[in-house]
Amino acid sequence: MTDCFVIAVDGPAGSGKSSAARGVARALSLRYLDTGAMYRALTWWMIRQGVEVASPAAIAAQARRPAIEVGTDPRAPVITVDGTDVTSVIRTREVSNAVSAVARVPEVRARLVAMQQEIITAACDAGEGIVAEGRDIGTVVAPDAAIKVFLTASETVRARRRSADLGADPAATVELTQSEQQRRDRIDAPQTAMAADAVQIDSTALGLDEVVGAIAGLARQRAGAAWTG
Ligand code: C5P
Repeated sequence: MTDCFVIAVDGPAGSGKSSAARGVARALSLRYLDTGAMYRALTWWMIRQGVEVASPAAIAAQARRPAIEVGTDPRAPVITVDGTDVTSVIRTREVSNAVSAVARVPEVRARLVAMQQEIITAACDAGEGIVAEGRDIGTVVAPDAAIKVFLTASETVRARRRSADLGADPAATVELTQSEQQRRDRIDAPQTAMAADAVQIDSTALGLDEVVGAIAGLARQRAGAAWTG
């Protein structure tokens, strides 16, 4: 698709990919694209509109309606739906528990994957590289990415991280978060793929700085002496 510097970071919920991808983008002065936020934003809109999220046909019929704008500044990634800033509200458990059912609908994926590819192309056209994170970046969205990372972590550590992220929600115990996560993993499984040429990083025992350092190291290695990031 492009010949600029694209880093794909894929992995399941709670693997730490958002923090890692943002950290890498900041460290290497690249743009940043959170594709999960786009699926969340569309899901938030569907819930608000009263669309039956258990009905693939109902979701498919509405998939192209709202305008979604996603920013690519790693210091302040903002996402809007029909002009409303939804950056925070898309992180609630209500959205997390509905998003996988929306994301598996082919019409949703067709729309959002095309948007993601346009955003990556726009970064390249502007002479900038980009770190894109999600589930299918290395396989579907940007199969030609220079660097592909598949981030994993043990199920317990992932649930603990997610639960900490949801700190303001008193219901978000580690146990409940883990069972909701298992359900999401099951529905997301067909969309979550490790590319054959991806490097797998297990972040179970690693701190954020170590993960960022490992990915940035891969990027510098790949770009060789020409790298100035
Ligand atoms: O990464 P995050 O947990 O925010 O993603 C939310 C949901 O969006 C995932 O559980 C998955 O259903 C969907 N998703 C996807 N493909 C992507 C990114 C996210 O299907 N590339």
